[in-house]
Amino acid sequence: MVAGTPNQKGGPLMSATIHIAGPAQLGGLYQTCERCGFVLQDYTGSTPMVVEGEDPTIASWPEGGRIGVIGNATYTLPDDRPLDDDETECRPTS
Ligand SMILES: [Zn+2]
Repeated sequence: MVAGTPNQKGGPLMSATIHIAGPAQLGGLYQTCERCGFVLQDYTGSTPMVVEGEDPTIASWPEGGRIGVIGNATYTLPDDRPLDDDETECRPTS
């Protein structure tokens, strides 16, 4: 991954990539970034466990929300928060 600016600290700093959540598909089983197509969520290969009597709706990212991905971790960014130095917007594929 190549960031726009060099890491001035020089260390192996992990940076987060910021994606934009697209609409949830297949009832929330599948969701990708609307900008670059990165798969934010994919449960299509497994059967989610649903406890009897509980809501079977699968949690998905809010459409249009900014989702930070760093390694295997994901988090949401409030709309009004500027990006940190170690956060980079993903690039459109087209
Ligand atoms: Zn993206």
